Amino acid sequence: MNAQIRPASDPEFIRLAGETIRMGGLVAFPTETVYGLGCDAFNPDAAAKIFEAKQRPQFDPLIVHVADRTQLATVVTALTSTAQQLIDQFWPGPLTLVLPKQLTIPDLVTAGLETVAVRMPNHPVAHALIREAGTPIAAPSANPFGYVSPTTAQHVADGLGSMIDLILDGGPCPVGVESTIVSLVGPQAELLRPGSITLEQLSAVIGPVRRSSSVIDQPTAPGQLARHYATQTPVKILPFDKTRPTLQHNERAGLLIFSQTSATDERFAAIEVLSITGDLREAAHHLFAALRRLDAQGLDRIYVEPCHEEGLGMAIMDRLRRCAAL
Ligand code: AMP
Ligand code: MG
Repeated sequence: MNAQIRPASDPEFIRLAGETIRMGGLVAFPTETVYGLGCDAFNPDAAAKIFEAKQRPQFDPLIVHVADRTQLATVVTALTSTAQQLIDQFWPGPLTLVLPKQLTIPDLVTAGLETVAVRMPNHPVAHALIREAGTPIAAPSANPFGYVSPTTAQHVADGLGSMIDLILDGGPCPVGVESTIVSLVGPQAELLRPGSITLEQLSAVIGPVRRSSSVIDQPTAPGQLARHYATQTPVKILPFDKTRPTLQHNERAGLLIFSQTSATDERFAAIEVLSITGDLREAAHHLFAALRRLDAQGLDRIYVEPCHEEGLGMAIMDRLRRCAAL
């Protein structure tokens, strides 16, 4: 089996994709964050295929995607007022909430936890697919475990093509980094993974949000592993002072920078500029595709200039640090 890339603009392929999910198959589909590898969230056999396709360890739970609040009620048991406020403000959108789960969600989907991670994506193709399938869709990012997440249909085909029934092509993902994950099961809201909904935005709605210590050093789930979202090529993050590195003799190096600051540097075999004007939204949108392009060039090392860890910069630097970790 080699999955065909099909245009999501053709309703016939949405119909086929929905049927594939209902029959227990795997469909890759675009969301506003990255491409997901989806299955029926209530089907443990289908979920097992996702873990196998990605070579994902079974202790790493999946995110369940819903199209509306009726579906949400089949996934979680109850919504606190904090959950309600965040949903009202940010759904549909790139915010995943960890909440107490309904027992009908298979253990494999939640890695045996009594909680489930759930979100309502803000992408017309994801929405149409979940609707057509008629069931919530469990979906991690559609890439081999540990590698850079896919932001185009071709990225999915490159990494997992032979393992998937169908890839819906809805163009490049607008946001480009994975969803923000907030746990609402403890006494205080806790940020488990930074994303494009920023800590500042969350706090403005629900007050102080704890930044999980595991985000920083003690991982409890692979989305939080020190090394994740990683290229084959070693990555080194440069100091903030904008000094360019001294390259070793014959070193073939790539450079990833956030804005078009200075003249191009001839010493680098390849340079990727994430945003000419230094716009962080544009940088996030281009981040994974740029890392993949550099990774495809057989370089000795990729040097990365850092950005400030405010707003979306927190999510971007989180991914880059995990990519650079040894
Ligand atoms: P991915 O779908 O590949 O972006 O990864 C999903 C991530 O969501 C996991 O690696 C976990 O970090 C997180 N996650 C999913 N479910 C839960 C849960 N019940 N509790 C805490 N974290 C979760
Ligand atoms: Mg992932």
